[in-house]
Amino acid sequence: MSNSPENFRDTIPTADAQGRRIWMYPRKPPTGKASAPNAPDYYKLRTWLSWVLLFILVIGPFVKIAGNPLLMMNIVERKFSIFGIMFWPQDFYLFALAMITGFVMVVFFTAAWGRIWCGWLCPQTVLMEMVFRKIEYAIEGDARDQQKLNESPWTQEKITKKAIKHGIFFALSFVVANLLLGYIIGGEALIDLITDPPTQHGAGFLFLLLFTGLFYSIFARFREQACTFICPYGRFQSVLLDENSLVVAYDHVRGEKRARKLKGESWEERLSIGKGDCVDCGLCVTVCPTGIDIRNGTQMECVNCTNCIDACNSVMHKVKRDPGLIRFASMNQIEGKSKKLQFTPRLKAYGILMGALFLLLSGLLIARDAVDMTLLRVRGTLFQELPNGDVTNMFEGQFMNKTGREMDGVLELLNVEGQLLYSDQHLSLLPQEETSTILVVTLSPDQLRGKETKVKIGLRADGKIVDTQTTTFLSPGRKR
Ligand code: SF4
Ligand code: SF4
Repeated sequence: MSNSPENFRDTIPTADAQGRRIWMYPRKPPTGKASAPNAPDYYKLRTWLSWVLLFILVIGPFVKIAGNPLLMMNIVERKFSIFGIMFWPQDFYLFALAMITGFVMVVFFTAAWGRIWCGWLCPQTVLMEMVFRKIEYAIEGDARDQQKLNESPWTQEKITKKAIKHGIFFALSFVVANLLLGYIIGGEALIDLITDPPTQHGAGFLFLLLFTGLFYSIFARFREQACTFICPYGRFQSVLLDENSLVVAYDHVRGEKRARKLKGESWEERLSIGKGDCVDCGLCVTVCPTGIDIRNGTQMECVNCTNCIDACNSVMHKVKRDPGLIRFASMNQIEGKSKKLQFTPRLKAYGILMGALFLLLSGLLIARDAVDMTLLRVRGTLFQELPNGDVTNMFEGQFMNKTGREMDGVLELLNVEGQLLYSDQHLSLLPQEETSTILVVTLSPDQLRGKETKVKIGLRADGKIVDTQTTTFLSPGRKR
């Protein structure tokens, strides 16, 4: 009822009219020998890509670029790393700019190439379709066998299959939760957490259990609902796509009027009476993990996984028609209004904005100080006059080494002659750590400019001044 062209949008495919969940049993898409030899085997390509992505996902927390993690979102310690570029609380504006740039990039790519991210690159889809779903196929069989098993009474065989499947699902969810934690706290901290007894990391262990439960519920039960109801990206795609966007699309010009192929009916006869290439076999619907019928047009639930393309190509091959009845195409391409991807004014505007943001971000990142220095007057102190007339001020210095390597630093007075005493006259700036020290600045009366003298202090590391700060030096004023 729900998928007829007249009322297919009255309900969503995964819920009945009363709002009860309809469990999806997507069939394995035809791949390998079952795929059409004259068309790309997208499922196979996705499988290869998923191996690469899973490999990156697993090694990600342990990979470092210039000493910094590849990706780290340490919300607790407010340290963030994107492709080895560290962002600290002081760099919040840069982090916000990086997020805005990322958002514009998503908008640009979605407007041009639709939801390619969802079907091919999103960790949720990769894990669900390329790991958990394949394990389910291996244990419970293809869609029809799974349905039969679910509807059958609890026999020994059913209990065994379900126990094995859910045991593996839970173990894999535990691994995924560990990886997620690795992206939050970093690879080394994750190894400590794994190797130390759980009692030493109570909070970390609790987090792991909570997220294991969450991932298990997503992959064992929630599944496509995460893309349909939780992920905001699917929701706002409708405002980003237009008739020029490349999406997984059914060629209604060629396919309609859809009709079953009658025995002995030739293609000439079919076409002459207005029937199209779609033989209404429904295979494109049965392989769809979100349960939609792509022949009804682009829909919110479509994650562009291309299962329906593979399915339809295999059908077209069997009925001796050209592949591509369902393919990556824009509405304008299907209707013959354009041949190639159109760089419309909207796309150009997104592209220019994206380029400008990239340039701005790159410029700010290049100009960013490797070490951030903060000088504050020691609380409760003003100045001290020495017997020889010199005046001293005390400051507390904080030095944040934003790089992934240790640096040696020295402090210098840049605009006045005077004495600057601190630690051992040398700072060991540990990677990604904050170091603090007390600085005592002494100026002779001839250097003073009234009661407040601006003093510029520089931090020298790697042979060059990496940060400066101007502070106010207090004194009783020049004596006459
Ligand atoms: S309609 Fe096709 S591309 Fe979209 S989710 Fe379903 S099978 Fe995947
Ligand atoms: S798989 Fe192709 S031929 Fe079969 S129903 Fe879908 S669009 Fe029509």
